[in-house]
Amino acid sequence: MPELPEVEIVVRQLNDIVVGKKLIDKKLWRKDIRFPLPEKIFQKIIEGENKLIDIHRRAKFIVIEFAEYLIISHLGMTGSWTTHQGLLSQYSPKKHDHLAFGFTDNKAKDKSKPLWLIYNDPRRFGFVHAIRKQDLKSYFSDYGVEPLEMNDQQIDELFTLAQKSKSPVKSFIMNQKNIVGVGNIYACEALFLAGIDPFKLTSKVKKTSFVKLISEIKKNLSQAILKGGSSIKNYRNVNDEAGSFQKSHLVYGKEKTKCPRCKSGLIVRKVQAGRSTFFCNACQS
Ligand SMILES: [Zn+2]
Repeated sequence: MPELPEVEIVVRQLNDIVVGKKLIDKKLWRKDIRFPLPEKIFQKIIEGENKLIDIHRRAKFIVIEFAEYLIISHLGMTGSWTTHQGLLSQYSPKKHDHLAFGFTDNKAKDKSKPLWLIYNDPRRFGFVHAIRKQDLKSYFSDYGVEPLEMNDQQIDELFTLAQKSKSPVKSFIMNQKNIVGVGNIYACEALFLAGIDPFKLTSKVKKTSFVKLISEIKKNLSQAILKGGSSIKNYRNVNDEAGSFQKSHLVYGKEKTKCPRCKSGLIVRKVQAGRSTFFCNACQS
């Protein structure tokens, strides 16, 4: 499942490819993915202010910005965006291609050949929405702070929230209302690096440990972005490349191996809130 680093990579690549171009066409191979596709709004963008201004990430959402509307894409479990240069009639749709957006491409030799962004999603847990720009705030009102950009004040605020929490620390950092984009892999890795027991109550985590945890989350996510993300099952970026960060995992998927830090403990796997939690049974307290 794509987590924050993988989504961030897709966002950066899409930015390089389509920002500044105009949305001129669309193709829907089906009416819905996880939710119905807002075909009418897509058409309004095409016929109205269709220049793509910016693409950014909020939590694990890809926000594609036009003057009046935003197209919002979530990759779900298996979603991906790829490109096709040329007429769509010359493209043979792959299995699970659901939707395509055609953009002008001034760099192409033949300017009548658009650049297509194609959304593919075998399991269809992803979706593509469109909203009015003024609804952006309310759309994301349930989402907490962005981990990569957290400043000291935001860390203090999150710690205040943590002290009131009744959940284990791993659940706390994976709750999107508190902090976004910390998926299972990165939660396990950051808790290991901070030396914190994932089952410990959040309210019992001391300030210094909490600050260390946030710093490990940031570092881990940033490193994962540099390494192209983690390809656990089938994640591919826009250029159809896999990531390599899974090779850097210290505890995730390392059940029954010796702890790489204390060398005396074992990495164990326990199910926590329905997800596998990997941790060292000796050096995380
Ligand atoms: Zn250990």
